[in-house]
Amino acid sequence: MSSKTYQIAALAGDGIGPEVIREALSVLRAVGQKFHIQFNITEAPVGWAGIDAAGKALPDDTLDLCRRSDSILFGSVGLPDRDPTIPKDQRPERAALLRIRKEFGLFANLRPVQLPKALAHACPLRPERQGDGIDILVVRELTGGMYFGQPKKTEDLRNGQQRAIDTMVYTTSEIERIAHVGFKAAQLRRKKLTSIDKANVLENGILWREVVSRVGKGYADVALDHMFVDNAAMQLMLRPTQFDVLLCENMFGDILSDEAAALAGSLGMLPSASLGATTANQTFGFFEPAGGTAPDIAGKDLANPIAQILSVALMLRYSFGLNTAADAIDKAVGKVIDAGLRTGDIHSPSDTSARRIGTREMGAAIVAAL
Ligand code: NAD
Repeated sequence: MSSKTYQIAALAGDGIGPEVIREALSVLRAVGQKFHIQFNITEAPVGWAGIDAAGKALPDDTLDLCRRSDSILFGSVGLPDRDPTIPKDQRPERAALLRIRKEFGLFANLRPVQLPKALAHACPLRPERQGDGIDILVVRELTGGMYFGQPKKTEDLRNGQQRAIDTMVYTTSEIERIAHVGFKAAQLRRKKLTSIDKANVLENGILWREVVSRVGKGYADVALDHMFVDNAAMQLMLRPTQFDVLLCENMFGDILSDEAAALAGSLGMLPSASLGATTANQTFGFFEPAGGTAPDIAGKDLANPIAQILSVALMLRYSFGLNTAADAIDKAVGKVIDAGLRTGDIHSPSDTSARRIGTREMGAAIVAAL
């Protein structure tokens, strides 16, 4: 299918990271064999595993490996019970995650939320609101807006009060590049994009709407509509099936992606992609489950590996454009769910046709379904 060898850095991290990455790599190898694609996978420590191996949450060798790679497949990092005396900026969540985001200019976050019909019980919405299943992609701008705008400070006022200031800033080019990501993603899906803003109140919202509309003219096959963020929050609960791609600035995307995630019922089902620059038809990306290290279930063969496995599919689709291989993984996961196999987080004791299994068996079943 492709003569290229894709260089992949696999950073398992802490907690359930090594267990779910192991299954995801089996799936990646299987898909490579099936479609004759060469993947060169190199594993390296990160998080507490990095601190234990090399004294740093993101060891220099691990960072070098990432720089030499086409994409990063990441588990998760952080163990709340480990050494509370270590300074915040050296803790894995900051020293590894934020550093990688910055180093590789990851400006677009993609969070797909899929609720297959077979998992309707895991969704907090009534079945009639779930239609034939929920399938939404939240595209969130990751490096601009209120979280990074300057000035950002808390100052003392003469009257004894304090005043906190955050600044929402977007430039045309920042909006344009995330809009292109959103429209391209919509082209790979049901070709509908809903752009989220607060154009009735915010200057940023007005500019966002203007720029997204202009970029949209170059994507005649994608239907574009605009929605105020407050209405979008409500519509996600009332009629989530109306959405395909939701395009959001940083803070709105942060909030709406978590709201949308709740619809899928378990963190164990949710992958995530953070994308950087595109060169020669390839996009550098960072692919991870939406959840964390789940210390409560780590090492017990209880973790759901599907989020990590679906993040492999995201890597193939959004970094390398290997859509057929990505589809095959999505389909294999669907097959296994339809066959009634469930890890604990998605298992309902009242569903007598389903069988509860562990991390390894779930991974093996998905490889077999491929
Ligand atoms: P968490 O996501 O690790 O766990 C929350 C709940 O979801 C737990 O009950 C857990 O068992 C469950 N869960 C998560 N993933 C699952 C899976 N694949 N299968 C089955 N159940 C799953 O969140 P937390 O407990 O708040 O955080 C634990 C640690 O993870 C913290 O140190 C936190 O900072 C870190 N964290 C890291 C990342 C990351 O690396 N990107 C993201 C979130 C949290």
